[in-house]
Amino acid sequence: MAYDIVVLGGGSGGYACALRAAELGKTVALIEKDKIGGTCLHRGCIPTKALLHSAEIADETRESEAYGVKARFDGIDVPGVHAFKDKIVTRAWKGVQGLLKSAGVTIVEGEGRLVGPNRVQVGAEVYEGGSIVLATGSAPKSLPGLEIDGERVITSEHTLKMDRVPTSVIVLGGGVIGVELASVYRSFGAEVTIVEALPHLLPLEEESSSKLLERAFRRRGIKYELGVFFDSVKTTDTGVVVTLANGKTLDAELLLVAVGRGAVSAGMGFEEQGVTIERGAVVVDEHCQTSVPGVYAIGDLIPTLQLAHAGFAEGIMVAEHIAGLNPPPIDYDGVPRITYSDPEVASVGITSKQAAERGIEIVEQVYDLAGNPKSQILGTSGAVKVLAQKDGPVVGVHMVGRRIGELVTEGQLIYNWEALPTEVAQLIHAHPTQSEAMGEAMLALAGKPLHVHN
Ligand SMILES: Cc1cc2nc3c(=O)[nH]c(=O)nc-3n(C[C@H](O)[C@H](O)[C@H](O)COP(=O)(O)OP(=O)(O)OC[C@H]3O[C@@H](n4cnc5c(N)ncnc54)[C@H](O)[C@@H]3O)c2cc1C
Repeated sequence: MAYDIVVLGGGSGGYACALRAAELGKTVALIEKDKIGGTCLHRGCIPTKALLHSAEIADETRESEAYGVKARFDGIDVPGVHAFKDKIVTRAWKGVQGLLKSAGVTIVEGEGRLVGPNRVQVGAEVYEGGSIVLATGSAPKSLPGLEIDGERVITSEHTLKMDRVPTSVIVLGGGVIGVELASVYRSFGAEVTIVEALPHLLPLEEESSSKLLERAFRRRGIKYELGVFFDSVKTTDTGVVVTLANGKTLDAELLLVAVGRGAVSAGMGFEEQGVTIERGAVVVDEHCQTSVPGVYAIGDLIPTLQLAHAGFAEGIMVAEHIAGLNPPPIDYDGVPRITYSDPEVASVGITSKQAAERGIEIVEQVYDLAGNPKSQILGTSGAVKVLAQKDGPVVGVHMVGRRIGELVTEGQLIYNWEALPTEVAQLIHAHPTQSEAMGEAMLALAGKPLHVHN
């Protein structure tokens, strides 16, 4: 069977590419061995955010007295949490299948293998494409000698099916997934300790954001061991004993391994067909073209940001590139990043460390959420930090606070439009909103601070 485009993998990247290509009049086959929607919809973004929302309600119930509301926290109904999460996932899953169907995309169920530069085999059937798009995603990684048994030593995928709230959890890895799940477990009532080899939680974020998160986690009773390597784990009848490289031991009911995700690139014929792979990830150019003409790769399979919206953008760009629309390459610094823990950490643009590495002279302004009434109503501390090039545009926005992630949309417009602080300072922010913190930082950078305490 011949199509203009054959997409291998129906996750965020793959289905976005299929939809955009179909919009552009291309015939598309989308091959998926499991469920359309992939990691994001079934094992990632959506189910974890549903858990985080249940977690937020648990905390707000516990804190209700502070707001003058009588409510009693009686505990977590684990099946009820799953029912809520699964309802959201199922609805979105039906929605995306409907979208693909009405766009005329042919969905092929089965495991595909690249058998030629323009051919993918599924069972006995061969699908030929004018172009091929590889979008097979990623899977949880572990460390050498660390075996995931799904019982005592688990990954994020097991958390999404947990049958109980454990009394205690050690989270190995203080990146986005580790931090979000640590936040969930703590809100659900577990004792949580995060172990991170680098000196800070969320090590890729602005250091001041990591420090604010660490302070907030400390207040929430989430413990962490930073700058120390994991050495080994022993399972016992009641849980796990983890030994760190500095000799310290920690015990808990569960060890959650969140040390990152690796591209799913093996065993599907990619290398045999000449696709260059480095450290497991497919190597691509700025338009996501692999080393084989006509074969593209997108999403978590390539070494760009492992985010669903980065995958959407790559899928759309590839569809447009194949259709000859000459889309511009993606500016990955301009892709917003959010960690949806309590508090949330959100950013767009570059960090001050990256600015220094690139020789960009910057000025910065921090606006503390203590001065923002809406944040006080929401009971959150945190800050909005804006970095601007000296006498130039905003180059980075870094935020910490409950629900602050929604503000990254404004930060993203400011960064991607290369707006000057003086231009943004002219724009009026609604009162009382958390977005005023962004406005205040810009006013201060423009030399006319309003509610800034120094
Ligand atoms: C716990 C967790 C939380 C996350 N939270 C967020 C978040 O809040 N926001 C965010 O932006 N990102 C989040 N992510 C990351 C996001 O889920 C991924 O970046 C995104 O799903 C990657 O999309 P993809 O299309 O590249 O791959 P995937 O979504 O992994 O899809 C790949 C698809 O390919 C299929 N496949 C693989 N091999 C074959 C084959 N041979 N034949 C047929 N089909 C095949 C798989 O079954 C899968 O459906 C999270 C991830 C995790 C694990």
